[in-house]
Amino acid sequence: MRLQVLGTAAGGGVPQWNCACPGCSGARAHPARVRRHASLAVRLASGCYVVNATPDITDQIESCPWLRPGPGPRESPLRGVILTDAELDHTIGLLRLREADTLEIHATPAVRQALRPFADILAPYVQLAWHDADALPISDKRPRYATEPGPSGWVSALRITDGDSTLIYAPAMGAWPDTEALEQADCVIVDGTFWDDEEPRRTGISSRTATEMGHLPIEATMERLSRLDTRCLYTHLNNTNPLVDPAAEQHKVLAELGVEVAADGMVIDL
Ligand SMILES: [Zn+2]
Repeated sequence: MRLQVLGTAAGGGVPQWNCACPGCSGARAHPARVRRHASLAVRLASGCYVVNATPDITDQIESCPWLRPGPGPRESPLRGVILTDAELDHTIGLLRLREADTLEIHATPAVRQALRPFADILAPYVQLAWHDADALPISDKRPRYATEPGPSGWVSALRITDGDSTLIYAPAMGAWPDTEALEQADCVIVDGTFWDDEEPRRTGISSRTATEMGHLPIEATMERLSRLDTRCLYTHLNNTNPLVDPAAEQHKVLAELGVEVAADGMVIDL
């Protein structure tokens, strides 16, 4: 399996259009610090998929050589989208894929139910083929726009297996997933939204802690990750996260633990 990291930012991106915090201002001043919304291209024996459909999806497809169309004039290698949850920063890009003839969407029943309005909008344009995702349940935090309670499985860690290789991808991790599943994976890419639990309150972006927002902070997960005998990376960085500054001392803390921070464009072969 080949992966290309298409983006590593939480909702809003870095920079976020209406934000002049140090992280966003730093990205405006230094283009190398720009991070698109968290997403992953995955090439499997069965075809190519994008994990989560972000507002940046069409630029992200262009950034990945093996997702570009051809050789026919309307031939795309992209078979579909695998969803971890129904949050808008992970799903709004579905609307940008309306030019497809057919699109597979792999999701839990709860995510599929939440996305019914999207499916209704897309139905006259593209044929959607829904499949169940191989998902480890993480939390039942449903998106604000989803008013119906629905079945369980709002937020998941995806398990993507191809031959002997397994990836776990969990950009929103409100609770620690099944450790055994993490240990069996060849690569684990997880929630690095916030560095510490108070960060959202301290920076004034929320009255809730990171955990209350559905994101275990890095401080609560980095040592557990370092104990896994597998390659571990953080993604989904919020623009308030000190790691968006390459000079931040927090990078040294992670390097000492052997835990990586994913970068846009990174390619991983498993
Ligand atoms: Zn900002």
